[in-house]
Amino acid sequence: MDPVNLKSLSRPELERFILESGEKRFRADQIWSWMYAKCCTRFEEMTDISRTFRTRLESLASLGRLKLVEKTVSPHQTAQKYLWELEDGLRIESVTIRESDRRTFCISSQVGCRLDCAFCATGGMGFYRNLGTAEIVQQVLEMQAASGERPTNLVVMGMGEPFLNYDAVIKALSILNDCDGFALGHRKITISTAGIVPVIDRFTAEAHPFKLAVSLNAGTDSLRSELMPVNRKYPIHSLLDAVRRYTRNRRKRVTFEYVVLAGVNHSDDDARRIRSLLHDIPCKVNLIAYNTTNHRYTSPDPEDVERFAELIRPLSAPVTLRLSRGEDISAACGQLAVKQSSAGSARTDRSRSRSP
Ligand code: SAH
Repeated sequence: MDPVNLKSLSRPELERFILESGEKRFRADQIWSWMYAKCCTRFEEMTDISRTFRTRLESLASLGRLKLVEKTVSPHQTAQKYLWELEDGLRIESVTIRESDRRTFCISSQVGCRLDCAFCATGGMGFYRNLGTAEIVQQVLEMQAASGERPTNLVVMGMGEPFLNYDAVIKALSILNDCDGFALGHRKITISTAGIVPVIDRFTAEAHPFKLAVSLNAGTDSLRSELMPVNRKYPIHSLLDAVRRYTRNRRKRVTFEYVVLAGVNHSDDDARRIRSLLHDIPCKVNLIAYNTTNHRYTSPDPEDVERFAELIRPLSAPVTLRLSRGEDISAACGQLAVKQSSAGSARTDRSRSRSP
């Protein structure tokens, strides 16, 4: 039997695994705490567990490390980008970003992405596969170990569309949120979606506590469909209806992300449309200056982003500007793309696709 990766188990599943191994239930609490509160990486460090059981665990289970291929640090040390190799040889990236007293960890949810947004580097690499729960959890634990710093915030805004890998993402975030383990507060955890309407409704119905961000990026269906082909399936009105159901039922604000592309989506008309679309939604708007990833679009001048922010400010929703942290090491939003090794891509070429 293959060893069970313990990082893929919820707490009740870990208890079941421990009971089935013939051990007492409280061993699960001990192991949970070793894995997520003390973040230890080897069974032999779990010193309050008998040597005999530790030895058995070595053969029954694993703790699922990711292999660090490369770490890039931005010149001002504000961003660190990690390239990981998964067990099947595919590669993903995750990033830590430091801004004053915030340390935000940005993690991937898929290898590649199906959505093919026109401005996004990950979209250009095609889709390989979903990440498993353990691979999602482990990005956070590995970055904490490598940086020696605990995250203050966690965003699922790396490679992939988290709402097309919903179960694994929610399970991973619930593991990291558990108060006897890693204990990262749910208000500090944000999932960002391109707008998969039925999954937003599921997220609302299941009442998960994590924060929701939606990538809007345009005020008309024609422009949004051009930038984000997923808009053809879930156009703006149906997306915003789902967001309204979320804000109403959950009594929470949503954050709209808006990537500002030079000369494309920041005119006076764009601002007017955004104001009218969002006027009745409790929200924040986060403007992100585009980080150049291809030749189709260019980054806006900072003054253009400021001006657009002023134009939509009458919304009465807070408008924030996100600077392109980590741009110098391609670690900013939408800049994560990995050239898969020939071994990895040869094996996955058949399943690779880009249709939304
Ligand atoms: N699929 C999810 C999460 C990944 S993208 C989503 O669409 O929300 C995370 C954020 O980065 C999105 O708001 C996206 O619009 C933005 N983004 C993508 N490429 C970018 C780029 N090159 N520059 C700036 N922001 C980008």
